[in-house]
Amino acid sequence: MSKKIFFSGVQPSGKPHIGNYFGAMKQFVDLQNEYDGYAFIVDYHALHSLRNPKEMSENIKNVLLDYLAIGLDPEKVTLAKQSDVSEHTELCWIFDTVITMPFLMRAHAYKDAEAKNKEIDVGTFNYPVLMAADILLYGTDIVPVGADQKQHVEIARDIAEKFNNTYGQTFKLPEHMIMKEVAVVPGTDGRKMSKSYNNTIPLFAEYEEIKKCVMGIVTDSSEGIPKNVYAIHKLVRDEKELEKIYTEKTGKYKELKELLIEDLEKFIAPLRENRKEFAKDIPKALAILKAGGEKAKKVAEAKMEEVREKIGVNIYEK
Ligand code: ADP
Repeated sequence: MSKKIFFSGVQPSGKPHIGNYFGAMKQFVDLQNEYDGYAFIVDYHALHSLRNPKEMSENIKNVLLDYLAIGLDPEKVTLAKQSDVSEHTELCWIFDTVITMPFLMRAHAYKDAEAKNKEIDVGTFNYPVLMAADILLYGTDIVPVGADQKQHVEIARDIAEKFNNTYGQTFKLPEHMIMKEVAVVPGTDGRKMSKSYNNTIPLFAEYEEIKKCVMGIVTDSSEGIPKNVYAIHKLVRDEKELEKIYTEKTGKYKELKELLIEDLEKFIAPLRENRKEFAKDIPKALAILKAGGEKAKKVAEAKMEEVREKIGVNIYEK
């Protein structure tokens, strides 16, 4: 029996943080033995926030090193970048013609941007459609993501249904996979950890950077247990042990933060070292990405042939 398929992606929009790792990336590694996986670098998605070509190229290489450093095995998971598989944007266009504006206007990302009176580019508005194409091209069963992406996976299901109803069964309906305890990893200020809030702990931070981030965690002196410190601490140490420690050290914020720094360092140091090893041979890493793109392209091409057949544009004799 063939294995089930997972698909997920990370934008090359900056340094990954421990929220990305625990919320999504760790699951890619955990799933790689049981599933056929696709871990994409979704560079075209990042275009709406990143318009510096040099930075784009660097960031793409960085995500590739991040993927390798966390333990993704290219023999088990296809590592590829979106711009190497043009079928993603082709399918996005076809999906654009089967769904409506009011449907997409319900997306949180669009509503948030509109509430902030931002001038929204068409790409941002269309983001969930391109994401649907990413997911649906590969016959995906599950999409491991953080809670912020739940709605986007639901939109992908809706789009698949709409297409299937119009043209006949073509796409499998994917499920999201969200780990409850890490669905929303909080940042140093208690809000969702996010690149755009400046409240992150980078996944490959050096010791001094970890220290700076942890010392900056917002604590409220009225609390016995500093909840923002605890919420991050429980990602890297067993909760039973932590409950005991935090009860013993009630009110001793500095000591608790120092302990968190040490625990984060223990967790991050091996990943950081791994990453440095992979960074020594960039051409080798790039060859992995290129081969992954070629492998993904074959699957995507076959699916697009089916789609073109279904919509009636395949008119030449075979
Ligand atoms: P986006 O910013 O569009 O979510 P990212 O590349 O930043 O894209 O996110 C990569 C993955 O990390 C996504 O699956 C996202 O849901 C997840 N993620 C991001 N922030 C958090 C967080 N604070 N807690 C849990 N998961 C997160």
